[in-house]
Amino acid sequence: MNVFLIVVDSLRLDFAGELLSGLKRRGFRVYERAVAASNWTIPSFGSMLTGLYPSLHGGHEEGDRVFPVRWGDMVSCRLGELGFHPVVLTENLLLSPAYGFKCFEVWEYFNWWFFVFKLSREEYGRAIGEFVRNGNNAVRAGLSLLRQGRLGLLSKLFVNYLAYRAVALRRGPVDRCSRCIIRDVTKIKTPAFVVVNFMEAHEPYTYTELGTPYLPTYDFVEMFREGRAPRELVDLWRRWYPRAVGLASRRVFELLDVLEDGGLLDDSLVVVASDHGQLLGEFGLVGHLALLSDELVRVPLAVRFPSGVEVVGGGGSGWVSNTAVKRLVLEVARGVRRFDEGVLYSDVVFSETFGLGFTSWPRVCRDGGCRLLPKRRVAVYKGDFKLVYNVTDGVVEEVRGYGGRPDGDVAGDLLREVFGFLKVAEGLQFSPEGL
Ligand SMILES: [Zn+2]
Repeated sequence: MNVFLIVVDSLRLDFAGELLSGLKRRGFRVYERAVAASNWTIPSFGSMLTGLYPSLHGGHEEGDRVFPVRWGDMVSCRLGELGFHPVVLTENLLLSPAYGFKCFEVWEYFNWWFFVFKLSREEYGRAIGEFVRNGNNAVRAGLSLLRQGRLGLLSKLFVNYLAYRAVALRRGPVDRCSRCIIRDVTKIKTPAFVVVNFMEAHEPYTYTELGTPYLPTYDFVEMFREGRAPRELVDLWRRWYPRAVGLASRRVFELLDVLEDGGLLDDSLVVVASDHGQLLGEFGLVGHLALLSDELVRVPLAVRFPSGVEVVGGGGSGWVSNTAVKRLVLEVARGVRRFDEGVLYSDVVFSETFGLGFTSWPRVCRDGGCRLLPKRRVAVYKGDFKLVYNVTDGVVEEVRGYGGRPDGDVAGDLLREVFGFLKVAEGLQFSPEGL
């Protein structure tokens, strides 16, 4: 038996219809009420793999810092002990041991054309320094390097620049190296625990954005400064995100075809998930940061159980946190013949974010969007309701219902759940040895 965890990075639930209906046709069970434990890759992946919320595994942003996953027990380590060969095939470079993703062999895939020549730290610093000193004028910076006799560096920069320009001529959506992953997946020594991360639904969305890094429409700094993403950027993303999702979905199906052709599908557990969603202009923002709105934390989740495993139970009105992925993987990998689906559901699930700082970037954060960023937030989903609490400012930012209308009692109840969560989370966060 093998275990495949296929994560389509940055795929929000309301754009995942095509993927989920295709997966249903291929025998997957779809969980419509899945919630990511956070709004970006490191904390959310950490939660899938440790089964803990980010404050308990420690892998998250806080101010200007990003902490690796520090605590808890990674499912890759357990599966390694059970004789599985744990491998990550990733287009997202955050899934590395440097960020606490342990007990994995990591196969990295990224745009080989992104840098034809890799620059050393010294070369990179020199190139940027000359560019800035010469008023962001590439020609003058190049002449300056020529006068200094830095011909080697200059030719590398020139070739890289040509590669960028060539890339910008290609038509989107941007494929990192998804075909390479599909090609390599059958080369893995089995039995294996394979984590795949496809980045096609993650920005940048066009080769133009990728190939012209100074394109003004691709300006996050402006979004932070003004508190709103530029109109052209929002339009661009709204136009291209669905196509990017379409490409990512096709790659998932192609990967499943390869597994099936290789005889690897039937006796495998296959989980298809996303680590978080994406904002496409909601709240004036694009990307995945700061907030815990449904666009950012409600994600697709689908599971195909190995043949011979009987699935019983069900979740009623509960929610499925992506922290449940670890338990699912462990139970099935241990050879359970009868899987009680109810264990994936909880009456109450949470999502959390710690807030970005940008204190080293003070001029950017004049007002507006930066006010949104450096905040600790906790979201709770319970029954047919959701609440988001801004811990930093001590205010409830969102109360909503799915079907029913929330009243004061509902909000009070949800807020008590948040306080209970914070008590445990903050208490444990400062005494990790307690885990
Ligand atoms: Zn991600």
